[in-house]
Amino acid sequence: MSFSKPNRSAATITTTRVDPAPISGICVTCLDGCEGPCEIGRSALKGREMIYPQPFGKITAGAEKDYPVDFSHFNIQGTCVGAVGVKADPDVAVFPAVDCSSRAGRDGSLQLDFPVVSGALGSTDIARINWEDVAAGAAICGILVVVGENVCGMDPQAEFKNGRLVHSPEMERRVKAFKRWYQGKGGLIVQANVEDTMLGVPEFVIQKLGVEIFELKWGQGAKDIGGEVKLPTLERALQLKERGYIVLPDP
Ligand code: SF4
Repeated sequence: MSFSKPNRSAATITTTRVDPAPISGICVTCLDGCEGPCEIGRSALKGREMIYPQPFGKITAGAEKDYPVDFSHFNIQGTCVGAVGVKADPDVAVFPAVDCSSRAGRDGSLQLDFPVVSGALGSTDIARINWEDVAAGAAICGILVVVGENVCGMDPQAEFKNGRLVHSPEMERRVKAFKRWYQGKGGLIVQANVEDTMLGVPEFVIQKLGVEIFELKWGQGAKDIGGEVKLPTLERALQLKERGYIVLPDP
């Protein structure tokens, strides 16, 4: 039994004509003349572009893989006898008294109001456009929020000196948005991948922007693919090529 749904996904705006064979995802009767709304049909026309979730730059995408276990399979069974973690007193054991605070970091000095870390919001349009809201929410709630990879390298206004970053309005905006609402709990994490490290992003955010929590990545990321973006103009392609990124096709 397959938990995956090959050859069709809401993320790529594809579907099959009739029920598919589970392993291949191809329609049980693949029809001569079908215009091909599935991933195979679309990729025959558009090639590798089909792997981009659509519409590009407007959405965040999740997988449709149907895992056989999820949180709905667990129940939290309460008890009417006694209490654990709080005084057994109905006037004390009230809902607002629930303490979800936590600590993180090697020495536990990083205080959190709630033990949550956001996904990394990197250089994509969807992350850039929504950053201020996410950062403000994280700061107010006392959780960790992450600036993802390539924010400085993809910043059209970024300035470099001898190949090292000296100015990035986009990264400065992101740090400022978090600090504006920061109330002493939670924190801002900045990631650096290979290209960020090469451009000097760690030194820039730590020394110039006062970032205190940092994630150094040894590869591009935890994804099988990743760091892929579409560039709208030849000028942007040339700019990123000059900054050391792999740009395909070679502009
Ligand atoms: S081409 Fe049409 S019939 Fe064939 S697998 Fe794709 S959707 Fe189904």
